[in-house]
Amino acid sequence: MSSLWVNLAYIVAAVMFIFGLRMLGSPATARSGNALSSGGMFIAIVVTLLSKGIVEFHWIAIAVAAGALVGALASRLVAMTSMPEMVALFNGSGGIASLLVGWAALSGAHAGIGAVTAFTAVTVFLSVMIGGVTFSGSIIAWAKLADVMPSGAVVFAAQRLINGAILGGLVVCGVFFAHAPAPDSYLFYGILGLALLLGIMAVIPIGGADMPVVISLLNSYSGLAACAAGFAINNNILIVSGSLVGAAGIVLTNIMCKAMNRSLANVLFSGFGAVKTAAKVEGEVKPIVAEDAYLILEAASSVAFVPGYGMAVAQAQHVVRELGELLEANGCEVSYAIHPVAGRMPGHMNVLLAEANVPYDQLVEAKDINPRMPNVDVAVVIGANDVVNPAARDDEASPIYGMPIINVDHARTAFVLKRSMASGFAGVDNPLFFGTNTRMLFGDAKASVSALIAEFK
Ligand code: NDP
Repeated sequence: MSSLWVNLAYIVAAVMFIFGLRMLGSPATARSGNALSSGGMFIAIVVTLLSKGIVEFHWIAIAVAAGALVGALASRLVAMTSMPEMVALFNGSGGIASLLVGWAALSGAHAGIGAVTAFTAVTVFLSVMIGGVTFSGSIIAWAKLADVMPSGAVVFAAQRLINGAILGGLVVCGVFFAHAPAPDSYLFYGILGLALLLGIMAVIPIGGADMPVVISLLNSYSGLAACAAGFAINNNILIVSGSLVGAAGIVLTNIMCKAMNRSLANVLFSGFGAVKTAAKVEGEVKPIVAEDAYLILEAASSVAFVPGYGMAVAQAQHVVRELGELLEANGCEVSYAIHPVAGRMPGHMNVLLAEANVPYDQLVEAKDINPRMPNVDVAVVIGANDVVNPAARDDEASPIYGMPIINVDHARTAFVLKRSMASGFAGVDNPLFFGTNTRMLFGDAKASVSALIAEFK
């Protein structure tokens, strides 16, 4: 294939990526956007395979078959609640792939396929460094999300100094490497080791509620690593797709930082959540049963559902929509308050509610629902905890202080549907559960909502 046709096909693929990304911005067009981007990726892969004069396809065929098998099994077997762990592993795979492409480019160039110019050396260094950090950092993020290791921040004395020294060591190695690039040198293995170490050291001090920022940042890194690998092997579509992922990841990171009300530097360097101890929460818990909760809901003229991770665990989204419809039929105004970090991945609640066909116009962002909260008769919290924790607003000693929340404690009545008094992902006690206006409806969220529906019927 001539390079003109290859580059034309790459432009078509790039345009499909960009429009696909754009369409992901709204739940109504997200599926088609995903399909469009996948189509672009298909074109990019086929054209790359045809263009590079690959002489042996059998290794590629084995890798394609293995990848397709893993992908198909994962999409069937991985539960919706485990998606965040899968996203972390996807980011890690992107990182290690770019690292290996950079490494292979260096070996190929060194073996005489092309000259190891200073430019190639720098791009190889960047793909190995960013790819390595992304890989090991994503493995730690996965371990925290999957409860393989404690989700809290791991901090120790002189941590920032050590991390700074590792980064400094990487830069020094990179400078020497640019002057004498060789694949089997101590310098190269030093860069590899330091990059993997930096990924681990950078993610262990980030804990609790800050994980959404880390996931989206690692996503961005995986794109930047791919972009560097694209320069290393001089492949235009890898450069374009890598920079798109890098840029989109940074935009998402910024959105997540705003959702947590902190700067990126603060998330990365403060060891957030480690040293502070929230005030001890005490008080009287007022449980309620479905029969009594129904009587209050039946009389309500406005209800705001506030879904959280527990709704995903209970798979309660369909019954929640059904309850919402019954309330509307009863003359009640119904809305769904969406916190940007509710659940375990960006957009988690939007995805679940869209799957249950909840009308988009009933979804309200936290900043828009909060001023209306004092006029809401009943705020029904469905398996949310951290995102409705008033300590984030009121207790300066709380590890989650400063994170914007949905002010369900300002509603006339708040029902909290959860199974126990257990804390949320950040491991912080929640004063909401002891509030005078709060009633705890204990049990699995789907069972509790189904019981309320049964009362209505
Ligand atoms: P939380 O993790 O704070 O709380 C979820 C609550 O759901 C738990 O307290 C649990 O209580 C309850 N629950 C679990 N299973 C059920 C069930 N079957 N039925 C009823 N309740 C159930 O969730 P939030 O959504 O409020 O907050 C998300 C947290 O996750 C934040 O700290 C956020 O920073 C973090 N995070 C978010 C990511 C994102 O991108 N959105 C990524 C990574 C982390 P009980 O066991 O008593 O039932």
